[in-house]
Amino acid sequence: MFCESPMYEDLERILLSKEEIQARVRELGEQITADYRDDPPVLVGILKGAIVFFSDLIRSIELPLTIDFMAVSSYGSSTKSSGVVKIIKDLDHDITGKNVLIVEDIVDSGMTLSHLKQVLATRKAKKVSIVTLLDKPERRRTNLTTDYCGFQIPDAFVVGYGLDYAEKYRNLPDIGILSPKVYDL
Ligand code: 5GP
Repeated sequence: MFCESPMYEDLERILLSKEEIQARVRELGEQITADYRDDPPVLVGILKGAIVFFSDLIRSIELPLTIDFMAVSSYGSSTKSSGVVKIIKDLDHDITGKNVLIVEDIVDSGMTLSHLKQVLATRKAKKVSIVTLLDKPERRRTNLTTDYCGFQIPDAFVVGYGLDYAEKYRNLPDIGILSPKVYDL
């Protein structure tokens, strides 16, 4: 039941409840359905953080879309975003002439998606757009803009609904701010 999981003890507070998230994902699905009615998109989920959002979003889009996945690492050896994206898992299908919609969990500096968008554009996609569940605009270091955004959030480290800290908390149904005591240990 709600808040019974010990994972909740590691949260400073819940930022977005599962009800708020579900309602917003439905709205995004309706908007995407309307916008892509004449040319259904290929939805490209970015592993692993976007998986929960991705699985809810595709079921909110009432179009014969197709799906694919990529896994990228935006950080080299340091913890600072370098802007260089290493592709760990590439798409399975050709996107030439397709309407591509990248599905991301969160945009922070924007470095990862700026680079990824360029990479996919070189593959002669018809159009490459972005839907992100969360956006931290204060942290932006590029001029990346998103086409669809679930929520703008403050500059805090969040987990849950697919987002992790050290691979944990992805299965939390809500999104919460991780308590600093967890990473200050
Ligand atoms: P960017 O290249 O935009 O700086 O980085 C985006 C990536 O950083 C996201 O896909 C995500 O993996 C990670 N990230 C940024 N902010 C957060 C956060 O608050 N929580 C978690 N769990 N990951 C984050």
